[in-house]
Formats: sequence, C-alpha cells, structure tokens
Amino acid sequence: MAVSDRVFGLVIVGGGPGGLASLLAAHKMGHLEDLLSAGVAVVEMADHLGAGSIGRYAINSDSGGRTFVDCLDGNHPSELTELRAHPLTRKLAAAGDGPVALADAGRFLSLVGEAVERMMRSHPASAVLTRHEALCAHQINDGWQLETRDLETGAVRKIKARHLIVASGAHQPLQRMASEQVGARSLSERCGDRLLQSGDVLTAAGLARVQGMLTGKAEPRVAIIGGSTSAAAVAHALLNRLPQVSFGTDGVTLLHRRPLRIYYPDRQSALAESYAEWTEEDVCQISGRVFRFAGFRLDSRELIMQARRIGDRPPEPRLRLHHLRQDDDEAGRIIDAADVVIAALGYRPRAMPLFDHSGAAIELFSHTGPQAPMVDGHCRLLDASGTPLPHIFGIGLAAGFVPRGRLGGEASFRGQANGLWLWQHDVGALIVNAVLEDAQPPQPKPDVMLSAVQAFFKAALPLPAPIG
Ligand SMILES: Cc1cc2nc3c(=O)[nH]c(=O)nc-3n(C[C@H](O)[C@H](O)[C@H](O)COP(=O)(O)OP(=O)(O)OC[C@H]3O[C@@H](n4cnc5c(N)ncnc54)[C@H](O)[C@@H]3O)c2cc1C
Repeated sequence: MAVSDRVFGLVIVGGGPGGLASLLAAHKMGHLEDLLSAGVAVVEMADHLGAGSIGRYAINSDSGGRTFVDCLDGNHPSELTELRAHPLTRKLAAAGDGPVALADAGRFLSLVGEAVERMMRSHPASAVLTRHEALCAHQINDGWQLETRDLETGAVRKIKARHLIVASGAHQPLQRMASEQVGARSLSERCGDRLLQSGDVLTAAGLARVQGMLTGKAEPRVAIIGGSTSAAAVAHALLNRLPQVSFGTDGVTLLHRRPLRIYYPDRQSALAESYAEWTEEDVCQISGRVFRFAGFRLDSRELIMQARRIGDRPPEPRLRLHHLRQDDDEAGRIIDAADVVIAALGYRPRAMPLFDHSGAAIELFSHTGPQAPMVDGHCRLLDASGTPLPHIFGIGLAAGFVPRGRLGGEASFRGQANGLWLWQHDVGALIVNAVLEDAQPPQPKPDVMLSAVQAFFKAALPLPAPIG
C-alpha cells in the first residue's frame, strides 16, 4: 500500500539521534516489534538515519563513551544487539565514563541508524522516507496529516499519523544576538564581523576560521558569552585545538550569568575536594549524583575546575571567568577589546509549522519567549497557552524537557536535559508507552526501563583521571 494511503501509528519527523531515541527505548523495553507493528514512519532530510548533526563538532563528548553504546542492549538478538561486537562500539565502550570524539559518536550513530533502517524496511507496516523534508502538519480527526517533499523529485506527499514526534533538532537563531543588549547596543551591532556563534565555531571549519582571525595577533583575545556546556566547550577548544594561536594571561574570557556548577558522581567525592556549594536540592535522589544535569562534565569540567581553583587542579591563567551583572561596564570593555566574540546563547527547537482543524496556524509555547520549552514533562508539544496538543510529542536538542520524579535529576535544575542517553531511556520510554497504550489497552508489564536505568547506575565506572 502506498505510504500516503495508510494511517501510521507513529510518524517521526527527523531521523537524527533524537528521532531514533524512542525506537531505541522501545528496543530496550522489548517493545520495538509492537511499535513497528502499529506502523512507524521516519521522515528524514539526510540520506540516512542516525547521525544527525552531532558528528560535525570537532570536540570531545561531554558524556562518557559507554552512554552512547548502552542503547544496543536488548533482551532478544537483533540487528542492534549484533552491533555490540563492532570495533567502533568496542572503542566507545572502552572509554567507559571518559570522553570520546564526537566524530566517532556520529559514526557510531550512523551504524545504529543503518541497523534501525534495515529493521524498519523489513517490517511491512513501517516505512523510512530519507531525502524527504517534512513541510508542515495539519490536525485531523484522531491525529495529524503531515506534508512532506521528496528532495529528489520535488513530489509533495500527505501522510496520516495517529501520533507525531517532532525531532528535527535545533538551531541558534541570529535574532538572539540582535536582542542581547550590551550597554545600550545589541550584541550584533556592537561586535559586527567579530561575532560568531558557538555551534559554528565548534566545527573543524569554524575553529580554522577563528585561528585565521587570531593568527599574527601579539595578544589574541576572545570573549565567550554564555555559561552553558557549549560556552565551556568553546573555551576548551580554543585553548587546546588552535596550535598556531598562543593565548596569554586572560586571553579567553568567559562571561556568564548563571553560576558555573561542577558535576560529581556522589556527595562524598564532592566533599573530598572541598566542593560544598550544593545542598540536597542539587543532588539527584535516584543516582546520588551532585549537579547531575547542571554540572559541567569531562573536558569542560576540568577546565572550569582549573579556572575556579577547585580540587587542587593546576591553574589555567589563560582563562578568565567574568560573572555578568546588571549595568556591567567591565563586560562592555572585555567585549570591545576582543578580536573575536563568540555567542553561546543556547539553541531553540526547529519545529515545522502546525495548523489546527480549521487551518489556522498553531503558535507553540516555545515561540512565546527565548527560554520557553516546546514540551511538557510528558514530552507533549505545548500550544502558546501552555496546553498540551493531542497526539504530538517533541524530543531532542532544545525540546526543553526537564526530568522530574522517577526520572531523577536535581530538584534545583532549571535548564534543558540534552543528553542522548536520557532520551534513549526514560524520555523515549514516556513516548513509547503513550503510543502503545493508545494502540492497545494497557496491560500490566514489568518496568523494564526502570531496571535498565538502575543497572546502568550500578555499573557506573569511576570518573577518568583529571586532565592537565
Ligand atoms: C556542541 C554540542 C555537543 C554535544 N555533545 C553531546 C554529548 O557529548 N553527549 C550527548 O549525549 N549529547 C550531546 N549533545 C546534544 C545532542 O545529543 C546532539 O545535539 C544531537 O545531535 C541532537 O540530536 P537531534 O536529533 O535532536 O538533532 P540533530 O542531530 O540536529 O538531528 C535532527 C535531524 O532532523 C533532520 N531534520 C531537520 N528538519 C527536518 C525536516 N523538516 N524534515 C525532515 N528531517 C528534518 C535533520 O536532517 C537531522 O538528521 C551535544 C550538542 C551540541 C550542540
């Protein structure tokens, strides 16, 4: 039957790491077959599923190697469990809780995508539409109608879905730099050509561009604006991956608003390093981890610990930390003196236009403010009033999901949980359960995902030795 004549149980828009996460969660839960039988279609612009954009970054991961490969586990042999023996899987697994190159993570996710693609293509009820762009979706009785364009032929197709997942990734809007004020002027106006975005800088081409802008300067200076993982990753990359640039004291300044928190695997190791700026609100009550989501990890963690002189790390005089205040003249001076200014102001979800039953555009909650999430605590897309839309979920970078309750995390956490592992476990499981419960009456079943999560934390390896 042609794709456009069928009603799929689930259509996933975006076949990157976020898009595949629910399928991988279903595999781990032992429900992938049930899900595929309900009819699943993935619509992806690229040639293949899996990689998304993670592999384009020329830096190391901020999650341990084993968090990437954990998605291959399952109770029954499958295309995915077979990948456990692949040399790349072994390489990532061998890193344990240590970092891996994101280029390797991207290659690994391509392998995972190929395996999922084979499983889906061999399943009569499912379909993979690569080189297809999702254009928009209209609400219909009992679900959604998605409009897609074949990027080779230009043909436009309509696909009906009972449930839709929006997993089309995120971007760094230029608008954000225009609206960020430093003194009386916007950041983009004040910095002109010196201003770059963190996502562009963290690629091989981006780092080469920054190197070109700084080569030959006697005292190169860079200002990074932001206190996120990306901001610290940029600082680490500049200091360690630009061989032709020698930064002097305070050569790189990180201007941040939020406090720079440090992740610890447990309370004892934090206290052993006299790190005491946390309360029980900052501890994940499931795993016992301190600043499980808000804390810097791996390369970024070591760098920020050096700069903050935590845990007897050797100093890093090339990095200066500047805590931004209201009417901060010093911040203006740092930015004006910089040869390059890098904005690490976060990502926003890239959602396609949605229309209601009457054909009117649906404004999303994520459009109501620069930090407003796209989804609620059940991964459901929210309209502008904050009401969940029926049968449509969001997952992936900047979707805005904040874990709570049995999903763990520290109660004080306010940001976005952007880790793949979480999406492939509890977050993906939330969506799988909602879709399957709708397809068939709920039946009592063992909480497979909870035991998988508990096993993961039990097997936690010690953190790698500090770098530097
Ligand atoms: C610098 C950086 C470092 C990171 N490091 C880590 C890390 O170490 N560990 C970790 O767990 N996470 C990390 N992340 C977070 C996250 O895992 C990655 O950003 C990941 O790529 C997000 O996956 P995604 O599917 O949400 O988005 P993407 O990877 O961007 O994938 C989106 C997919 O949707 C497709 N698409 C987009 N629009 C459409 C459309 N209209 N129709 C059809 N297809 C469409 C795209 O082609 C793409 O394949 C990092 C993020 C960044 C920015």
